[in-house]
Amino acid sequence: MNGSKVGRVFSGARPTGRQHLGNYLGAIRNYVALQDEYECVYCIVDLHALTTIETTENLRENIHEMALDFLAAGIRPEESIIFIQSHVPQVTELHTILSMVTPLGKLTDLPTFKEKVRQNPNNVNYGLVGYPVLMTADIVLYKTNVVPVGIDQAPHIEFAREVVRSFNYRFNTNVLIEPEMKNTEVPKVIGIDGKDKMSKSLDNHIEIADTPEETLARVMQMVTDPQRIRRSDPGNPDVCNVFSMHKIFSSPDEIAMVDVECRRAGIGCVDCKQLFAKNLNKRLAPFRQRRAEIEKDPNHVQDVLKDGARRARMIATQTIAEVREAVGLY
Ligand code: ADP
Repeated sequence: MNGSKVGRVFSGARPTGRQHLGNYLGAIRNYVALQDEYECVYCIVDLHALTTIETTENLRENIHEMALDFLAAGIRPEESIIFIQSHVPQVTELHTILSMVTPLGKLTDLPTFKEKVRQNPNNVNYGLVGYPVLMTADIVLYKTNVVPVGIDQAPHIEFAREVVRSFNYRFNTNVLIEPEMKNTEVPKVIGIDGKDKMSKSLDNHIEIADTPEETLARVMQMVTDPQRIRRSDPGNPDVCNVFSMHKIFSSPDEIAMVDVECRRAGIGCVDCKQLFAKNLNKRLAPFRQRRAEIEKDPNHVQDVLKDGARRARMIATQTIAEVREAVGLY
């Protein structure tokens, strides 16, 4: 590890294509910030994606778009590693080994598994059950200290810690490191439906690489205080997702103004959303400009991912050798 850094960070995200505000506020902001102190490894988990997607037709494009967002958001590839999960096959070997210290009941009890079964009862495959084991393998393969993720991943990180403890106990070793979770100040972003976690699969998201016009159109669809039906009704910002967004993207004066004026129907939801969209677009403008710059070189993303895989494999090879020795595989 680089001597000036205090530890290693790892995070993985499924190749869902262009990233949304939830990904950005819940995870990517930390990916960028942690680079100053930690050696960072960021992985696009294409194998994990296979657990739910029906076709790999858009996989390549989704990976490209996602990597573009990461780079434009400020991940520095000369310092940090960005790579594609399946380019480092050691993770699948580690996944198999870790599966031997994982009770099946623990996996089927996880709320994240139950939710996936509810969403897609006709595709409960073996890979889906093992999703958290593969995620644990990803994390521990890179000797990770800290995992920046949204709060939805908390059960998986706790699970990873348990697997590490079981493995180290069973093989009387300390080869694997128990990772710590790190959330941002906004660990759960609610979607434009005002109800569920922002997510592409629920189509309640706002993409950070959208044009200003697309962003405004999406913001105008946001659900506000359901009790406020007419423009003349006083609203309650405390239950309004647009107000939560103002708290992140607007100035202190604007936040105070919205807080007061909404409560006495001084401003309507349309005015309030327009102000939020304006501030959001202003904040995202430098990101969008950088993204357009990076896009000009058609090979840049591919080169970054290839070099990232090479560097990731060096760490993975070392860890797997240690794991094999601890387990007694010769
Ligand atoms: P999605 O939920 O859109 O399918 P992923 O599950 O691949 O995206 O998540 C990638 C990262 O973004 C994870 O660290 C996850 O915790 C975080 N994340 C995703 N959605 C949100 C959200 N609505 N709020 C906060 N963090 C989120």
